[in-house]
Amino acid sequence: ASTAPPAAPTESARPSDVAENNAAPAAKQVLSALEEGGFRLHSENLKSILLADSVVNKPVVVISVAGAFRKGKSFLLDMMLRYLTARDKSSWLSEPRRRGFPWRSGRRRHTTGLLMWSQPVPVTLPDGTEAVILLMDTQGTFDNQSTMHESSTVFALSTLLSSVQIFNLMGNLQNDNLEHLQLFTEYGRLALQDASSTPFQKLLFLIRDWQFAHELPLGAKGGDELVQEWLDCQSGKPELVSVCEHIRKCFSEIGGFLLPHPGPKVAGSAEFDGSSADMDPLFVTMLNELMPNILAPKNLTVKMVAGNP
Ligand code: GDP
Ligand code: MG
Repeated sequence: ASTAPPAAPTESARPSDVAENNAAPAAKQVLSALEEGGFRLHSENLKSILLADSVVNKPVVVISVAGAFRKGKSFLLDMMLRYLTARDKSSWLSEPRRRGFPWRSGRRRHTTGLLMWSQPVPVTLPDGTEAVILLMDTQGTFDNQSTMHESSTVFALSTLLSSVQIFNLMGNLQNDNLEHLQLFTEYGRLALQDASSTPFQKLLFLIRDWQFAHELPLGAKGGDELVQEWLDCQSGKPELVSVCEHIRKCFSEIGGFLLPHPGPKVAGSAEFDGSSADMDPLFVTMLNELMPNILAPKNLTVKMVAGNP
């Protein structure tokens, strides 16, 4: 990371959304792109999260959500946080809201970078191991102001750091998503050279606003089918075939999930405050399938680096 002097206060989130040390839990900036080029690692924030007594020396499940901006990534992370911290998982959406990931940040210019939730969530894995879940958000990538290099770097870093990478896409899986995937496969290529295991762990293609439920059903079933079809590269374009093959080699597990449109209030209303009453009931049903699909202890993947948790 660059050792340039600290950047001016970022616009990464409304200032009140970013935690000061020892403040209430909030999203903390751990990496940001600098205007003059390069990146700044916010090591003081990273340390305050990873070296906390409740976290240090524990295996971590690192869940990242990446993809283009204003496609509901932070909203999803906020839902995950609500689910994880709910007293009763069967009624998590109706429990009182606490401060979560800052979403619906408008058209304002965002710093390109990575945010981490300051309070990792403790979890007991099926084998009895005490672990923690870290939630990580990417911001400002692939908007029209971030350079391709900046966006790809953040995307690749989030893939390297996570044990579960959720690639958030709007509408459908398209060949131009390849542009983004291609770059982290380059990192994977390097990682493959000096390790016998797959460089990355889980990849989940999460498709938002899926409109073709008559062709492929919502949820994991339709999502897995879509992803398999796509990775089989039936289009036959030679440049796609090699990327698809490489993506398969880079991840130990690849899946998909199709979410329906959340309803007009979520997608468009400035007054929407995260209340489930304002969400389309089908969206709520599918959120209830998605959350355990990602976050149930049996589905969690501990981050491994060169074979070590
Ligand atoms: P991010 O830039 O990807 O982090 O996007 P945000 O999470 O800030 O959300 C941007 C806007 O999209 C907000 O107004 C959300 O309410 C809305 N949104 C959240 N989820 C969805 C979804 O699944 N579909 C649609 N169409 N909008 C969504
Ligand atoms: Mg966001």
